[in-house]
Amino acid sequence: MTENCCEYEWLRQNIREVRQKIQEAAEKAGRSPSEITLLGVTKTVSQEIVAQALDMGITEIGENKVQEMLAKQPYLQAKPHRTHIIGHLQTNKVKYLPGKADMIQSVDSIRLADKIESVYAAAGLTAEVLVEVNIGEEAGKTGAAPQDTELLCAHIMGLAHLRLKGLMTIPPVCQGDGVRNYFAKMYQLFVDIKTKKLDNKDIDILSMGMSGDFEYAILEGSTMVRVGTSLFGKRHYDI
Ligand SMILES: *Cc1c(COP(=O)(O)O)cnc(C)c1O
Repeated sequence: MTENCCEYEWLRQNIREVRQKIQEAAEKAGRSPSEITLLGVTKTVSQEIVAQALDMGITEIGENKVQEMLAKQPYLQAKPHRTHIIGHLQTNKVKYLPGKADMIQSVDSIRLADKIESVYAAAGLTAEVLVEVNIGEEAGKTGAAPQDTELLCAHIMGLAHLRLKGLMTIPPVCQGDGVRNYFAKMYQLFVDIKTKKLDNKDIDILSMGMSGDFEYAILEGSTMVRVGTSLFGKRHYDI
């Protein structure tokens, strides 16, 4: 095990297993696995391991914290990939994102959308964004309320430097397959907004499903699963 070739074999194995489960869930749902993007959630994961994951075919990574994303980026620059901000975003951090984040998945207020608009307009760039929905309507949790989502999406579509690509959610913690109800509600909201309410052909991402529930999310229509623990192991919050 001291040989370099084998040091990251565990990671290759985890990636293979997650992709296998994505494929099986897609087949069970009568969908093509190619409709589902695997995003590796790299919060607390070292830049060396993230670099290995990119070498092993991971193409999208997600970070919760802007500073952590910026710290790892120089090390990963040579490897083609896309970086997503998936954690709660404070307006005073938006200024660090132009040219650094490829997508912001956690837009949950008009105030934050307007801030992104002004920062990206000044940089002469456009931000790809998802609207985060608090589908369980849990108190104290980030995300737009389901009933406010259409209005927020419409507002974003009116901003010249934002490009609305879809919706994201973190559902309530549930027993068994109880989470499927929330994923199903999200899918309904996604289809409603995309096809009926706003008729926006750009909207094609429904980001839902994490290590514990991504198979259920795929059964209910997810197009992007955000997987951390099942790829990289248990997180240690000391970096
Ligand atoms: C941490 C995190 C994930 C990944 O969670 P795992 O259970 O480790 O797969 C996905 N999405 C968001 C927004 C996260 O913060």
